Amino acid sequence: MNRLAQMFLMVSIVFPDLTTLALAAPQTGLNQSFLAPAGHAGLPFLNAPAIAPIGVRVDKYLDVPESAKGPPIDSHKGYRLEQLGRGLYMITDNAYQSMFLVYETGVVVVDAPPSYAAKLNQAIAEVTKLPVTHLIYSHSHTDHIGGAGLIGGHPIIVAQEETKRLLVRGADPKRPIPTVTFDKTYELKVGSQRLELSYHGDGHEPGNIFIYAPEQKTLMAVDLVFPGWMPFRRFAVAHDLPGWMAQVDLLAKLPFDKLVAGHVARLGTHADVMTQIDFDNDVKSAAAEALKETPFVDGINPADSGNPWALTDDYTARVAGRCVSTLTPKWSTKLAAFDAFVWDQCYAMEQSIRVD
Ligand SMILES: [Zn+2]
Repeated sequence: MNRLAQMFLMVSIVFPDLTTLALAAPQTGLNQSFLAPAGHAGLPFLNAPAIAPIGVRVDKYLDVPESAKGPPIDSHKGYRLEQLGRGLYMITDNAYQSMFLVYETGVVVVDAPPSYAAKLNQAIAEVTKLPVTHLIYSHSHTDHIGGAGLIGGHPIIVAQEETKRLLVRGADPKRPIPTVTFDKTYELKVGSQRLELSYHGDGHEPGNIFIYAPEQKTLMAVDLVFPGWMPFRRFAVAHDLPGWMAQVDLLAKLPFDKLVAGHVARLGTHADVMTQIDFDNDVKSAAAEALKETPFVDGINPADSGNPWALTDDYTARVAGRCVSTLTPKWSTKLAAFDAFVWDQCYAMEQSIRVD
């Protein structure tokens, strides 16, 4: 059943006498005789994309392409370790990613996602008996560091100063306040190991940093690139979308071999960064063209003409629909979960283009 037919079925269950009229009526313009009650869903927009809009349940999401999958997780352990070079390991549950670095007398942990933080010490113990001496926060969000309190001991906690500001404000006992902060760059030298921390301004959120292990040629940068996958909705809920896009562009210029991106099932590569830049740019041009080509008023109930928010909502939905239709042929089979978040990306981008 196509989506229009489904909508008719849905509407006909709720308003049986209205849809009889609707089916007989032409699908263009506004027909006052079959309007749903105020505030209820009406008929779909003309030429609405086949990708289900936000809030509409789908029976089956698009299949996840092989290119997005990673090595399996041992279900007994609930995580897997992947060695990234001398003393450096990624730990992941194939949804979140963090890492730890072993040096001569201790361990540096970078992030502690709550989804597997209770197993972090067990994972480290697979590799070394040395204690955790340092903890680095990539940024303040609890889904990446909310398991910090489970590591125990009294590690030195390093973060960018904006991260400290946000954590002081949040006063969350699960996210201990950083003990060492920096502005632009910070070099952590422990034994023969080294990590370079750098801050490139607001993007995902203030304080989100890059963590680079030069010997292992591994870069950890969280919530910017989603290897093989669609970015999380609204470009990973970017606090500043132009800043976020600039940071993804910057990743392409850095000399890493392995990218620990904080999410999804596998490591990232330069090719993944380039794919995402291509996608981000396509969304930007699709949204810009949709904003330009879509009439601001088209088919809205004249009774709503004095309601600027209603006009904007109707216009924005038609802009987003046009943007989704432009992106679907190229991207729906290329990035996993395209259908889950493409509407969000188009809404976020048209908003950013209009106001940023
Ligand atoms: Zn985040």
